[in-house]
Amino acid sequence: MNFKVSYAKTADYATANLRPALEKVFAEQLRSTGGVSGKRIMLKPNLLAWRHKEDIACVHPAVIVETAKLFLDAGAAKVAILENPAVQTAPSILHSMGIDAELKKLNVSSANFTDYRRLPVPDRVQFHNLELAAEYLDFDAVVNIAKAKTHAMMTLTLCVKNLFGLVKGSERMGWHLAVGKDFAKFADMLLDIYLTVRPQFNLLDAVVCMEGNGPGSGTPAIRGFLAGCTDSLALDASAAETLGVPELLLLRNAAERGILPEFENTGEIPEKNPLKLPDPPGILSEWGVTLPPILKNVMRDFVVSKPKLDPNLCIGCGLCVKMCPPQSLKLVNGKPVFDLPNCIRCYCCQEHCPKGAIVPRKTMPMKLAETFEDAVRALFGTNTKPNPRSASKNT
Ligand code: SF4
Ligand code: SF4
Repeated sequence: MNFKVSYAKTADYATANLRPALEKVFAEQLRSTGGVSGKRIMLKPNLLAWRHKEDIACVHPAVIVETAKLFLDAGAAKVAILENPAVQTAPSILHSMGIDAELKKLNVSSANFTDYRRLPVPDRVQFHNLELAAEYLDFDAVVNIAKAKTHAMMTLTLCVKNLFGLVKGSERMGWHLAVGKDFAKFADMLLDIYLTVRPQFNLLDAVVCMEGNGPGSGTPAIRGFLAGCTDSLALDASAAETLGVPELLLLRNAAERGILPEFENTGEIPEKNPLKLPDPPGILSEWGVTLPPILKNVMRDFVVSKPKLDPNLCIGCGLCVKMCPPQSLKLVNGKPVFDLPNCIRCYCCQEHCPKGAIVPRKTMPMKLAETFEDAVRALFGTNTKPNPRSASKNT
């Protein structure tokens, strides 16, 4: 199937600019799905954490409010916001954002996921079934609202990665432990979640993206657009090209599994404008090399970026210690100390640090390999890495 990815530009989040842009990106989605009149709609925004009024770790509050209004105006019988942030609760984040009263006036409820059930995965390669928040089954449609951010482990977090929020908070650590050592497996697990949930509506907030040390502590990068599609993966493939990272591991795995959809870009298509990326997670995933698990484990210390602390930024809050799945961190004299041989390079510590005090850093073999790779490219006159897909069209 050839999905339409709709783009719309907006200079900022002011309602006068945002609402028309939202109408443009949802017009095709509402048309092709037959509309939402009388339907119950669940919004699943990325609500990672809200620490100050300019925080860019979450979907912008105005996007959440205006999307809820748009679906109500389109005739939805009910709109509810559900999410499961790792540290705060969904209602407390919406309260901190200052939009809870407005949502209440609109009769839009908010809650954390609580109803976890084992659900079968269609076309799975990784798991027969997954324990996921099952509330979405009580709704007629899901609106998956992602923020465009860099991500230490997956390079970018877009619509498919946003669905990881349906995994039980307490089990995310176990999942990182189970598959986090192998980034390709983690990408496959994300694809399994996508195949299970298949949100009917998808929206990407790329008005102000996050680049650098994402997904929690990067810097703002203005790209000034929204994108929407009825398919999360098609939207990710299109947006990854637009944001200058078409060689995402997630897309490569999807292509290998034969599930990467064709897409066509429509509307106000922005110029390609690459985000500044975090250090790549590792040479193996960068080069698409697959090694036997035992060899991977041995080589991990050499070819996968290590988490590194900036003690000047650290306030000793201990959140990284709490979020570390294999407990490879402990506080010593008020600062975290890494047990690197035990570290699975999942970067949960980096994701949740409120001060951006942890960053992935390339190892020396990685730097040498990169220099070698650049030299080979220069020698053979190839400047770009292979693209896992090249089927997109712009209209
Ligand atoms: S590194 Fe970040 S999360 Fe860990 S103790 Fe320091 S400030 Fe807190
Ligand atoms: S130290 Fe950080 S990267 Fe290593 S396992 Fe713990 S949370 Fe993951």
